[in-house]
Amino acid sequence: MLDVLIKNALIYDGSGAKPYLGMVGITGKNISFVADAQAVAPHALKVIEADGLLLTPGFIDTHASTGFGYFYPHAADHKLYQGITTEIFGNCGTSPAPILPHLVPTMQKLAENLQFTFDWHTLDEYFNRLETIGVQFNVATLTGHSTLRGGALENWTQTSARAQQQMEEALLASMQEGSFGLSTGLIYAPGCFATTYEIISLASIAAQQGGVYASHMRDERDKLEEAIEETLEIGEKAGINVLVSHLKAAEKRNFGKIPKVLKRLEDYNKRHKQQAFIDVYPYTAVSTKLRAFIPKHFLEGGLAAVKTKLAIPEVVAEIDAYIIERDYELSQMLIISNQYPEWEGKTVDLIAKETGKSLGQVICDILMRDTEMWIVYHCIDPADIDAAITWPRAMICTDSWSHPINAPTRIGVPHPRSYGAFTQFLYDYVLQRNLLTFQEAVRKITSLPASFFGLTNRGLIKKGYRADVVLFNKGKIRPNATYTNPCRLSDGVEHLWVNGGYIIENGHINELTPGEVLRKNKME
Ligand SMILES: [Zn+2]
Repeated sequence: MLDVLIKNALIYDGSGAKPYLGMVGITGKNISFVADAQAVAPHALKVIEADGLLLTPGFIDTHASTGFGYFYPHAADHKLYQGITTEIFGNCGTSPAPILPHLVPTMQKLAENLQFTFDWHTLDEYFNRLETIGVQFNVATLTGHSTLRGGALENWTQTSARAQQQMEEALLASMQEGSFGLSTGLIYAPGCFATTYEIISLASIAAQQGGVYASHMRDERDKLEEAIEETLEIGEKAGINVLVSHLKAAEKRNFGKIPKVLKRLEDYNKRHKQQAFIDVYPYTAVSTKLRAFIPKHFLEGGLAAVKTKLAIPEVVAEIDAYIIERDYELSQMLIISNQYPEWEGKTVDLIAKETGKSLGQVICDILMRDTEMWIVYHCIDPADIDAAITWPRAMICTDSWSHPINAPTRIGVPHPRSYGAFTQFLYDYVLQRNLLTFQEAVRKITSLPASFFGLTNRGLIKKGYRADVVLFNKGKIRPNATYTNPCRLSDGVEHLWVNGGYIIENGHINELTPGEVLRKNKME
């Protein structure tokens, strides 16, 4: 007896194979029956007539940044409505664990700001906390290099053998507690102060434990090619598969670089046992913190010192010169904030014109009020993004943190990709422009990431696999989130199961937490 039998669905099994009309049965947490439409089905407690609907494995979001969002109710609604049933967080160098001593005050402050209880140090303790709360979908983590570094070093620019050893031991422990690998964020402090050698040493430990290396590289602009070489060097020397995170070539003068980068990755893959992959989001604007656009030396003493440093009058001229040198197009940079209505939704350029101040002065003013300020910056070539997305080894990501609908407003405002990357991908690349077939698009967001990360028993519609299953109404697939109205849920998902838990039923969310915390070392 099946718990659920889904009949007459057009099944895209995640392998990239052509779809077929068939049936899928779910028993407990698993897919227990898969057959074509003519087969005789076992009895089921519940039968869903899925005529006209598409059935796919649940999607895997390869790239999310933190795990604090899970502490709020309905933390994953916006992702479930995109068809996502598994999220990999801990990207771009930042993970919620392990927390080494020097990071404790930062965490305490964050917990106070965002109103959650901070009561863990190790990954195991953090996972236990998540399991106590319950999660709506499956979650897995990488271990953030900046998190290790910020916890081991008092002064971010002065490393020591002892600190290196502390980072290595903490990474090894995290890997043994279920991390899927190492992530770096090499434009952000304190990760940006690390040598390549430091990262190779850490990535080697992740490699020995069967993990992967995902990198927000040192440069996504003028020195993109050098950053790719560093990433590949780390992959080769550490003996680890690499994932170039959210691949892009920002700024107009770098448009057209992506096809060359993909060619370089293909050449690397032909010559090496370890392989290189990318993930990418289907948008031409980036979302990051404003502080990434000032010279790095302002960040060297830690964030607390930034405000004092920026208050010195000569700094404005330095930042103005830096903007010219880097050729930042600040008429394309939007301030995203729900705490500062005077800046919200305006470009830095417009604020400068309105206030009669220089661009550098506006940036200083904003950062002196809030070093955490988020921006959206339109700086990516649409043709480059198309090339990246259609590359066979490209996975799709939201590059977001779980941004719960019910979170305190000071948690920030997301990029629309948080609520719409996967539906935007299907709508734009498959339904509107036919750049990919539906089966190829589904492969890129199911079996491809499952095999890259080693998420065994997920990513395919196959008997014995976990029942992460989505039923779509193809004609209704829409990303509704926009840059100015980013918190709008996507349309198109009619039914969705996570580990057999029926969490979206006829388009409505059920109050369930069927998700599992996935531990690399305990995958079946
Ligand atoms: Zn990043």
